[in-house]
Amino acid sequence: MRAAAFTELTGPDGVSVVNQPTPEPGRGEAVVDVEACSINHHDLWILNGESSMVDPTDLPFVSGLDVAGTVSDVGEGVTGVEPGDRVVLCPNETCGTCRFCREGPENLCADYSLYHGGLAESARVEASRLLRLPDGVDATTAAALPTAYLTAYHMLRRAEVEPGDLLFVPGATGGVGVAAVQLATLQGVRTVGTSSSASKLETLADLGADHTIKGTDPETLRSAVADVGRPDAVLNHLGGAYTGLGLDVMRRGGRMVVCGRTAGATSEIDVPDLFLGHKRVIGSTMGTQADLERLVDLVASGDLSPRIDRTFPLEETGAAFATMQERDTLGKLVVTTSSR
Ligand SMILES: [Zn+2]
Repeated sequence: MRAAAFTELTGPDGVSVVNQPTPEPGRGEAVVDVEACSINHHDLWILNGESSMVDPTDLPFVSGLDVAGTVSDVGEGVTGVEPGDRVVLCPNETCGTCRFCREGPENLCADYSLYHGGLAESARVEASRLLRLPDGVDATTAAALPTAYLTAYHMLRRAEVEPGDLLFVPGATGGVGVAAVQLATLQGVRTVGTSSSASKLETLADLGADHTIKGTDPETLRSAVADVGRPDAVLNHLGGAYTGLGLDVMRRGGRMVVCGRTAGATSEIDVPDLFLGHKRVIGSTMGTQADLERLVDLVASGDLSPRIDRTFPLEETGAAFATMQERDTLGKLVVTTSSR
């Protein structure tokens, strides 16, 4: 089988299509004929050599978390899926035995990690992490869901937003940001989203954003958000200075959920404002398999259409990452495998 492997961790030029043995399922595993795999900044950080997760002397590495396709084979002991089932993978990898694996949420597992290996024609996965796709949910759409929409969905739950609340989403035209605006809108939550691009903000308004603000400078955004109102909650996938900003702008008792650090790993915060204002800062990573099930249901019912910017064939995976790097996109980039 062919795989779009990272053969050098030097950026998008480091992706090569290589031939690898078609995987065989072990006990509890399934092999999926991959039809679509969306890409994430997580993959790009690995490809750019910015992640410590992959040893540069241990290449090629096949990344890709967000897998959808058809089960081709199952190993011993698999009961939930069978060959021919159309599926999407929840990319959570957990120990399966700790308190959080047993009682949930499983993304709190101390051994929590992420699946990699979807940028290929076949992927070997834990069968228990597969969700069957309802008729009418195609693989490309399903592959858009796991990382970005799952993360945003879980963050919205952690933010305890209610209909009518105002949600601030800095960097709202990124993958998690778009998902957050769409999912919040579905819940009757009002949103204010920011971006550096006026044209992207127009699209964001079409997707449901109630207020849009053009700009990236935290100081400028501070007054622009205040003009809209005091947010009840902030979904912050940027980290950095947006963390202090989010705390400043939200109302007393507000909640800020943080899931990323693309804008920086540290931030100054106003500690008295935090405690005197009864504000909460909440960390969040990915979501649960039950969250993903609900997202698949939202797509099947027609309530949610994940925003897909464009698709790329497997052999153009490097171009997909170059496109992501240029940030000239709004929505998911999905690599499709159609050669079989
Ligand atoms: Zn566990």
